[in-house]
Amino acid sequence: MSTQQHTLSIIKPDATRRNLTGKINSKFESADLRIIAQKRVQLSKLQAEKFYEVHKDRPFFDELCTFMASAPIVVQVLAGENAILKNREIMGATDPAEALSGTIRAEFANSIGENSVHGSDSAETATQEIAYFFSGLELVG
Ligand code: ADP
Ligand code: MG
Repeated sequence: MSTQQHTLSIIKPDATRRNLTGKINSKFESADLRIIAQKRVQLSKLQAEKFYEVHKDRPFFDELCTFMASAPIVVQVLAGENAILKNREIMGATDPAEALSGTIRAEFANSIGENSVHGSDSAETATQEIAYFFSGLELVG
């Protein structure tokens, strides 16, 4: 069954620092995901903590939020058929050592923490995460 979906993507600080935005966007577009909203922002630590609140009890939470606030990020909404799962496949596994070749994380990630991209993991989190960064007027499909 075909389902058009929206998902939130973030190009993380390790990737913006290395000037990889275009190379990563090219992976999305080659897989028929459309970038229907995009902006470059730098989060405060508090804004990063709010975004990753679901992970607040994990041992890496502080390291993750410090990293996410350490440099600009590019937040984007990707649209397409089965966009949520498709993006997770293009991203690859959280740990780049386990990511399949050709995925963004296999190609670009520095480590399990500095792993270049974020992608929503379900329809529910996609809706919440998109609303955290974008108003409806900013989604231009
Ligand atoms: P994903 O981003 O693949 O959905 P998770 O939701 O499990 O992964 O974790 C969120 C983010 O937290 C990861 O993308 C990564 O940046 C960081 N992270 C996850 N596990 C670790 C870890 N063991 N050590 C350091 N950072 C981690
Ligand atoms: Mg996750």
